[in-house]
Amino acid sequence: MVAHDLRGRGITDPEVLRVMGEIPREGFVPPADRWRAYADGPLPIGQGQTISQPYIVALMTQVLRVNRECDVLEIGTGSGYQTALLARLARRVFTIERSAELSETAQGSLSELGIENVEFRVGDGSCGWPEERLFERIMITAAVPDFPPPVVAQLAEGGVIVAPVGQSSAQELTVAEKYRGKLIETPVCGCRFVKLLGAHGFLD
Ligand code: SAH
Repeated sequence: MVAHDLRGRGITDPEVLRVMGEIPREGFVPPADRWRAYADGPLPIGQGQTISQPYIVALMTQVLRVNRECDVLEIGTGSGYQTALLARLARRVFTIERSAELSETAQGSLSELGIENVEFRVGDGSCGWPEERLFERIMITAAVPDFPPPVVAQLAEGGVIVAPVGQSSAQELTVAEKYRGKLIETPVCGCRFVKLLGAHGFLD
């Protein structure tokens, strides 16, 4: 997976390639799907949700430019696979998920890997992290019509945010940097994610 689907397609950040090689994706998919955990496609994780394609996970991680000095907010914990990768790169990860069931499963998967620098919450991540604080990096792993204002307000100056932005049927993976309080956006590629359902996402 790392050699063919990632390095072969433009994932060059050595730290991203390292953690993609370290975190076992099969630990985050249902047992019946473990045999295809390293195929380059999304897989169902229950509750009508999916774990994203490895290439897209790597690409989002690469454009976010995470390092040990970063506190990262992740919106849409899902299986926890992306959370685990971020946790290996960042100082701390704060992850929020709408489904209590998915959050609980993800917490189990991360604790099995001995990952401890993650804080889990259940709630509507489109409203941001429930406590007032800033993050150096923010990743939204579900489609949003626009960068949600309460989430952008929690991005530190000079911070980076990445999200699939667009319509519910198709989006543009977009990375943005906060400069003098405003977002400078750069499109990365077309993509298709499940919807972020919430007050500043899509309607249920
Ligand atoms: N990064 C995940 C994939 C997430 S799929 C992984 O690696 O497995 C998107 C997730 O966002 C789903 O689990 C969905 O339940 C969650 N979600 C949808 N709307 C949300 C909201 N408003 N707040 C938090 N999570 C939300």
